[in-house]
Amino acid sequence: MNVPLLDLGPQIRLLRSEIIEAVTRVIDSTRYILGPEVLSFEKNVAAYCQADFGVGVSSGTDALVMTLMAMEIGPGDKVITTPYTFFATMGAVLRVGASPVFVDIEEESFNMDPDALREALECQQGAGNRVRAILPVHLFGQCADMGRIVAIADEYDVPIIEDAAQAIGACCPVADAQGRISWKKAGSMGRTGCFSFFPSKNLGGIGDGGLVTTSDEKLVDILRSCRNHGASPKYFHPRVGGNFRLDPVQAVVLEIKLRHLDGWHDKRRQNSMIYRELFAGKGLAETTVRLPVEKYADMAGSEGRTHHIYNQFVIRAPERDALQSYLLEHGVGCEVYYPRCLHQQECVSTYNDQAFPIAEKAARESLALPIYPDLTREQLDFVVETIASFYTSK
Ligand SMILES: *Cc1c(COP(=O)(O)O)cnc(C)c1O
Repeated sequence: MNVPLLDLGPQIRLLRSEIIEAVTRVIDSTRYILGPEVLSFEKNVAAYCQADFGVGVSSGTDALVMTLMAMEIGPGDKVITTPYTFFATMGAVLRVGASPVFVDIEEESFNMDPDALREALECQQGAGNRVRAILPVHLFGQCADMGRIVAIADEYDVPIIEDAAQAIGACCPVADAQGRISWKKAGSMGRTGCFSFFPSKNLGGIGDGGLVTTSDEKLVDILRSCRNHGASPKYFHPRVGGNFRLDPVQAVVLEIKLRHLDGWHDKRRQNSMIYRELFAGKGLAETTVRLPVEKYADMAGSEGRTHHIYNQFVIRAPERDALQSYLLEHGVGCEVYYPRCLHQQECVSTYNDQAFPIAEKAARESLALPIYPDLTREQLDFVVETIASFYTSK
């Protein structure tokens, strides 16, 4: 048997004729830049994310870069983020000339540790404080602890930019001053939310794409201007922006896929439950591998909130590298997200002597298994059986 890490074939076969028809409509319209398709998709995806506005852009990376530009974050400024994420989170900060300040993650969720965030903000207090934003990442499809992060950000009066690239549709419990919990969607809690439609995300295009959500009426105008060389109005440039526009071909495909997104999230969650049963059945859960922790499951109760959308199903495994080779040899797709923390990257050599032990441990232990919606029961069985045979053959 062969179980790829991700197979988009079934999804595209299901929607093929609808997609071809929509793309043909764009081709025949001869309107190839922005236009009604992009506007319509922006409205729908913003509503889906519980934000007032959506600004379609060329990628998730550009969503981050453009937000930083719109907020006039640049040289000398600092942005607090996590060292355990995809490179683009840090890359965007560096590209605008600002400096990342890293804080360690929580062992269980892989996300920014609010206590570490508070410590970092405390360290930066006083004259010359240049912390201009907090950039948490909702890694693998589960929100960072935004209840606490929002409260801390408010206390220190620093805006939040959410890197929600992996978490479209994920919900997070946030308590108000009276302690009442309400569920907020990724991208609705910060000044902006940055999304990616890279094909491997839960909502993926047929190429690159991204979106910025915001409910800030002033900022949305600046974001739209930044997307188009900082123009406002056309040919007049109060600022320098870029060409960060979302393609209408991507917009029509994404609009079609958006209608299926909650169903696909449900299937990923069902797969995760099957994995949990299978791992427990083999006696592997807890004793050998550690399965992903659903941090907000208790609070979600019977409401069945989509508190984890499982963009990735990431286990922690002893002898991770040997297990990965074994799985690949036996036809099970898997990948390490991420083998090297950001502070250890060659391009930021001045950060290399910093230490974030929890993130570094995650980089040594984590392994992503196939979780995409169209996996069959037989494929899930095979993944767990192969993992079991690796550990019993030891
Ligand atoms: C995918 C991703 C991005 C970048 O998105 P692109 O569309 O590939 O540019 C940024 N941050 C995180 C956490 C991601 O997973």
